[in-house]
Amino acid sequence: LTIGEALERAAERWSGKPALVSRHQDVRLTWLELKHAADTFALGLIGLGIEAGDRVGIWAPNCAEWTIVQLATARAGIILVNINPAYRTAELEYTLRKVGVKALVCAENFKSSDYVAMVETLVPALHDGPIHSVELPALRHVIKIGGAQRPGWLTFADVIDMGQSRSPGELSALAAGLDANDAINIQFTSGTTGRPKGATLSHRNVINNAYFVGIGMGLQEGDRLCVPVPLYHCFGMVMSNLACLVHGATMVYPSAGFDPVAVLETVEAERCTALHGVPTMFISELEHPDFERYDLSSLRTGIMAGAICPIEVMSKVMDRMHMPDVGVAYGMTETSPVSFQSAPSDPVERRVSTVGRVQPHLEVKVVDPARGVTVPRGTAGELCTRGYSVMLGYWDDPDQTAEAIQDGWMHTGDLGVIDEEGYGRIVGRLKDMIIRGGENIYPREIEEYLYRHDAVEDVQVIGVPDARFGEEICACVRIRSGKHLTEQDMIAFCRGQIAHYKIPRYVIFLDSYPMTITGKVQKHVLREMIIDELS
Ligand code: ATP
Ligand code: MG
Repeated sequence: LTIGEALERAAERWSGKPALVSRHQDVRLTWLELKHAADTFALGLIGLGIEAGDRVGIWAPNCAEWTIVQLATARAGIILVNINPAYRTAELEYTLRKVGVKALVCAENFKSSDYVAMVETLVPALHDGPIHSVELPALRHVIKIGGAQRPGWLTFADVIDMGQSRSPGELSALAAGLDANDAINIQFTSGTTGRPKGATLSHRNVINNAYFVGIGMGLQEGDRLCVPVPLYHCFGMVMSNLACLVHGATMVYPSAGFDPVAVLETVEAERCTALHGVPTMFISELEHPDFERYDLSSLRTGIMAGAICPIEVMSKVMDRMHMPDVGVAYGMTETSPVSFQSAPSDPVERRVSTVGRVQPHLEVKVVDPARGVTVPRGTAGELCTRGYSVMLGYWDDPDQTAEAIQDGWMHTGDLGVIDEEGYGRIVGRLKDMIIRGGENIYPREIEEYLYRHDAVEDVQVIGVPDARFGEEICACVRIRSGKHLTEQDMIAFCRGQIAHYKIPRYVIFLDSYPMTITGKVQKHVLREMIIDELS
């Protein structure tokens, strides 16, 4: 199945039912309307001379147009390139050049950043007709979502107009020639550990994963899924948008960028039945002073994923957000993304302490990172996954691809354990593991423990260089408002409760952490900040 075929099927089966609601834009589309918009935009792109296999970039926060472009490019076999909304000029330029983007669809602005001004610095001479840039030789068109016309650029509406003047038959002929194994998407990883990598994915990769993700969370026809996660990331575009597309649920966008109040309001107003988020999003919804004012009783299910999900937070989501079926998932952009997921039928204890079991049709093994051999069940090692969901490769990067995928096995860079019953537990990233005096320490274990202190709102544990032990443990704590906490309190809290070598040597108090736009803490950036502070 291609994404375009899935869209055709959705428009037939659920025609007049709601497909998409964008609250902040006041846009509501049925499946027929969404398909019509996607087809028309696809014809417009064809009219601009963009062909199957060409790359079209999208640089915008969450909005209805994002999804229309996602489906339009898939219909025409064009490769969509997701560009991180937090990027600035240099990163944008790098991405556009790296993958040879031919047309860039961009928003006017997002938060405090002026996208138009940034794009203008890259596309200097403004004139009519296709763009010619020496630095970006592939780039021909800039298509702006909303706002006023700009010389030499197109608007979203212009492309729709162009599409309307072409025959829909053109698209059917083209769609017949597409293959589910074709590259359809270049998704960049979050950049949690360094420069984001462009994972090239096929229709088959993502549509199948979206299907199983939906099954795993019990997503049903008529469900309304609140999507606060960025669409640019696989959590949004696959686990949200495509899961709704294949299961007949409605995608509901509360805001352009994450806003806890918009989420709470949207769930209440749209009677959402499902809600996704990374742990930090659920934390800020739960901790919001007005939390109790909202009626969230329509919720039933959802997924918490993308980073280690603290047990406490999971339990609160189940009880206080009325999400009895909420589950966890583990995955990565390179595997389209999910490979482990819990099921609503799993015992609560399993859902809060593991990432569930491996998804259908995937293989998994755990290897000793140093020696590469498979370790016994119950032992921690690097998780490797194999099957339909493994990406085609990193775009234009055979070396990095060969390093990541060996014999079809994706080496995840994550440390995990699989128990006798097949439940997986993520113990951390290989890169974040602390080695103190020859002892392997998983920051997560310490974080879980410190998190139990009632003055701790959030905590990140990192390793910092130490002359004696190689590395020492540093806990970076965010204190809950109205509470008081000292370094001595934290250390006393650990004494006698966790092994002595796991007790943090340093405790530092912070108001916030360096984050990716997907809501993950960039521990490598945090580590550098702390090392500066300690020295
Ligand atoms: P980069 O690869 O650019 O450094 P990233 O790995 O964060 O960034 P993503 O592909 O968005 O980019 O995220 C995948 C990673 O997120 C996984 O490799 C894993 O480390 C982490 N992750 C995802 N789900 C979970 C989970 N349920 N529990 C713990 N960690 C998770
Ligand atoms: Mg990664």
